Amino acid sequence: FLQGFAMGSDVARKVQGLPIISNSGIAGVQGGGPPGLALELGPQGAKITDGSNNPEDVQTVAQNQFLSAGKKLSKEEKAKREKDPFSMWAEMRQAAAEDKFPKGDDVFLYKFHGLFYVAPNQNSFMCRLRIAGGDLSSWQLRGVADLSDRCGGGYVDLTTRGNLQIREIPASRGCELLEGLVDLGLVNKGAGADNVRNITCSATSGIDPRELCETLPLAKAMHHHILNTRDLYRLPRKFNISFDGGGEIPTLDETNDLAFQAVSVTEELASEEFPEGVYFRLALGGITGHEDFARSTGVLLRHENCIPVADAVLRVFLRAGDRTDREKARLKYVLDDWGFDKFLTAVEEEMGRPLPRVASDQFVAPLPPDRWAHVGVHPQRQDNQYYVGVIFPVGRSTSEQTRGLARIAEKYGSGRIRLTVWKNLILPDIDEADIEAVKQEIVDLGLDWSASSIRSGLVACTGNKGCKYAAADTKGQAMYLANYLEERIDLDVPINIHFTGCPNSCAQHYIGDIGMRGTKVEDGEEMVEGYEIVVGGGYASSQAIGRQLYSGVAFSDISPLIERLLEYYLDERESGETFAQF
Ligand code: SF4
Repeated sequence: FLQGFAMGSDVARKVQGLPIISNSGIAGVQGGGPPGLALELGPQGAKITDGSNNPEDVQTVAQNQFLSAGKKLSKEEKAKREKDPFSMWAEMRQAAAEDKFPKGDDVFLYKFHGLFYVAPNQNSFMCRLRIAGGDLSSWQLRGVADLSDRCGGGYVDLTTRGNLQIREIPASRGCELLEGLVDLGLVNKGAGADNVRNITCSATSGIDPRELCETLPLAKAMHHHILNTRDLYRLPRKFNISFDGGGEIPTLDETNDLAFQAVSVTEELASEEFPEGVYFRLALGGITGHEDFARSTGVLLRHENCIPVADAVLRVFLRAGDRTDREKARLKYVLDDWGFDKFLTAVEEEMGRPLPRVASDQFVAPLPPDRWAHVGVHPQRQDNQYYVGVIFPVGRSTSEQTRGLARIAEKYGSGRIRLTVWKNLILPDIDEADIEAVKQEIVDLGLDWSASSIRSGLVACTGNKGCKYAAADTKGQAMYLANYLEERIDLDVPINIHFTGCPNSCAQHYIGDIGMRGTKVEDGEEMVEGYEIVVGGGYASSQAIGRQLYSGVAFSDISPLIERLLEYYLDERESGETFAQF
């Protein structure tokens, strides 16, 4: 049926990254002064240094191939070399005192602190936090809500990296907010720009009845490794890392540059090199905005080797990534260029030892995740304990709601909160006797826990209310569609609808059952907001990049179209057939 609608060709790659701006070239960079990074030219080609004379700190830049081919460093690479983003605090404080937003290259450099100046859509900062593994205490969550009231717009956005963002921060309040976060134990250095982003892991780590391995300790170890390793703030581009323990809630690890996926070696499959136990499969190069999932390398690791291997992968990427073209600066393009064998050899050289490989039939993958495990009530592996997944329409929570959830976590749970990559959170450690009270308190906050609604599978990026790249009001239109469909359609299976405002695909539209990508559409003589529509995407064991169904539909036509699509599926499907299979 879907093929019948299809446009007859695969979805063309339409990568729209940041604009590439020409720069004055290498000579100009040499003239730029440390204390940040510096570029040196020598007989072996270019090196990036930290400006010191410590040979330990000098990193040969393998992307000499780009520079020697006559390409020029990107504007962002120049900016990093001309000013150290972590040595500009006094300057940032002064700008805050004068109520001034950053200008020019400083807009990019502020992102190293997690502060994004999001003009023109909002003449304010957005602050992206770092919450390793999405694990928070109730007092931290309450503190974030209070900070949002004091320094931001009085709400928080949940993100697809199990993280939080605060928006509508005036120029005068950016530094105050960062200081407040540190006081809460939330250090968000490197939360934006060319850094390793928030580390994700299984949201039910430690409480999941069927997980193979706890991943929260790994996520925290990786987080602290990054925060405390100077070299790793110098990547060519952003980098995502995920640890999936094989639990019920999918982490979407395959959408990450570097994915560790728990698998088991059973007694029957055990060998001298891989005795019976749980290991992590290493996968590399995921970036769904560029229509690629992380691909398995054949390397199998014990949990204690994950962080050293991640460090080595990052160091190879540090040297080999393209610093001349921002659109090609992600790990995927190094892998496409080098191939996996060459890349893994470089990682092994970095580590000084070989990485153990195994055939894919020598271990057992975990069971497929439960598509609705992030919402509703679910038993934990601990006796008489449950977690409750809370739904946030399009991933936003007012400060009142946020404080209310912190209170529920303290009153009925253990005071911990877990954020998921599905733009929602779970409240763990609830006694069976308190489940009904927790459900009622969630509803009293104006939120929901029910897994049967359209909005439980709704994911929307920031959209044009806060992001300059957006072609459409994704959050507002996603909510309109949810309201429209919930009045007309009763779902008995989960359907994920992802709204993303531009090809950067922050809401990962390519892996949704239905994916929307914002675009401008001609409507008579004017251009209006609309969407390209892809269908049939998936993740984990149903991994698939969605196929394009429509190239540009005005938003005013979207709701009845999706209604017909879902009705057709519900009427015509075979027993047990998922939307993606249909
Ligand atoms: Fe902005 Fe959405 Fe595009 Fe991400 S996907 S850059 S949030 S418009």
